[in-house]
Amino acid sequence: MNEFGRKNPNAHLSDLGLKNVSAAYWNLSPSELVEESIIQGYGELTDTGALAVDTGEFMGRSPKDKFIVNDAETENSVWWGDINIKFDAEKFDRLYNRMTAYLEGRDVYVRDCYACADPAYRLNIRLVTETPWHNLFANNLFLRPTSEEILTQIPDWIIINVPGFKADPKVDGTRQHNFAILNFTKKIIIIGGTGYTGEIKKGIFSVLNYVLPHHKGVLSMHCSANIGKDGDTAVFFGLSGTGKTTLSADPNRGLIGDDEHGWSEKTVFNFEGGCYAKCVNLSKEKEPQIFDAVRFGSLLENIEFYDGTTTVDYDNISKTENTRVAYPIHFINNAVEPSVASAPRNIFFLTCDAFGVLPPISRLEKGQAMYHFISGYTAKVAGTEVGVVEPTTTFSACFGKAFLPLHPTKYAELLGKKIHENNVRVWLINTGWSGGSYGVGSRMKLSYTRALITAALNGQLDQVNYDTLPVFGLHFPSSCPNVPSEILNPRGSWEDKEAYDKKAADLAGQFIKNFEQYSQFANEEILSASPKIPQMA
Ligand code: ATP
Ligand code: MN
Repeated sequence: MNEFGRKNPNAHLSDLGLKNVSAAYWNLSPSELVEESIIQGYGELTDTGALAVDTGEFMGRSPKDKFIVNDAETENSVWWGDINIKFDAEKFDRLYNRMTAYLEGRDVYVRDCYACADPAYRLNIRLVTETPWHNLFANNLFLRPTSEEILTQIPDWIIINVPGFKADPKVDGTRQHNFAILNFTKKIIIIGGTGYTGEIKKGIFSVLNYVLPHHKGVLSMHCSANIGKDGDTAVFFGLSGTGKTTLSADPNRGLIGDDEHGWSEKTVFNFEGGCYAKCVNLSKEKEPQIFDAVRFGSLLENIEFYDGTTTVDYDNISKTENTRVAYPIHFINNAVEPSVASAPRNIFFLTCDAFGVLPPISRLEKGQAMYHFISGYTAKVAGTEVGVVEPTTTFSACFGKAFLPLHPTKYAELLGKKIHENNVRVWLINTGWSGGSYGVGSRMKLSYTRALITAALNGQLDQVNYDTLPVFGLHFPSSCPNVPSEILNPRGSWEDKEAYDKKAADLAGQFIKNFEQYSQFANEEILSASPKIPQMA
């Protein structure tokens, strides 16, 4: 075997059961990885120097093909069900061997990186990838050890990422040919049959969502975070597409991270060392920091060019709506490194309510905060399919159910305790529709959402009067600097008030129904935050 690059002299691929690979490239630089990707025909450079690739068959995660090995470690701790699907330990070993056999005679790219910016929780990762660009993704998204550290780094977790290896469900016990499987005993993640890079990122997120709360008493969170000039931390929870990445990039605040954080006794810290931003409709005018991060070293996924150019057409989402760019966090000019901050003073729950029922901003009481955290509501437009106009509701506990190996109440208990201890203010932000549901109203202007958040952060929303939204009992400000007052009351912004009331009752019913599964775990204070459907005459 030929080995190239920088590595711990005591590290060997045979430790991972990898034998007879053709060549192993350890810890190549971004430029080497970019060059290799282009030479091998995986992608091309855009006119701003970013590497553009196609991820292939999968352009998003495949939750039904994500499994956790069921063994003594996980049997009684994991919240088994359709989110955390059991996988047999022996079958894992067999599949692992088949993957390593596939890699015989092929080149592999090895990367040493880590998760958790707070050194107390550092989790070293060694990743073996089939392609150079998956390796670049890991370099951009995870934290990067110094070249000195690489010489002594010992991995805590291993990721084997082999998009070209397709499982045979009959032989391997998978659902279909693609899979992402976590083994908490062996501390290995195997990913095959899919080239979507999000599986790598969210694989480690799932690991940390288990390890940190279960073994270390640290709350793991699906949120972005930033800090103001006087060091006040804000965190933004939200499901996909609700605005975590967009809203955390704020020229007036330092970026801690855009997607995954831990909250320990003393710190809020980023799990990652980079961002994975949506590119749909990206513009320099609306999102200058993210736009400028698309440059040499960044990895663009599934975008299209303007005809005959290498200029990205961000409005073209013919391959997928989920076009993405992965870049290291220092590509955002005011990123804070190391990405560690103090406990938050403000928490925002972001929801993209395509029904247009919830206020653009509301200040939550303690019970309401817990109720909305456990509910994890968002409603998205049904995608870009022609003729599909009805938004669909999603309730995803803790704004990240898909990544939670433990029962949601574990995270909710930790959050409730921390909100209480730190006297944190909690806000609910609707980044979705205003003036009517999808089809009638329109998406909240980004500039308004930014202004609402700014006003909440700098205390201006403590100086104004509040009204209460019927049914949901949410308290919303009656005025806010730089935002037209008419939009603050969602009912007021709808022309057809009857239609609003009907939609609100409808949505309230869905909240109530969804919460039934959690009500046995909730106290009176939380339960009293439930929406109340008025008896229609
Ligand atoms: P993921 O978890 O998938 O990374 P995310 O929460 O980070 O999702 P963003 O990448 O921030 O979501 O996506 C929000 C999208 O919505 C962006 O494309 C942004 O431009 C757009 N958008 C439009 N209006 C608003 C608004 N008022 N607030 C926030 N985002 C908005
Ligand atoms: Mn994001």
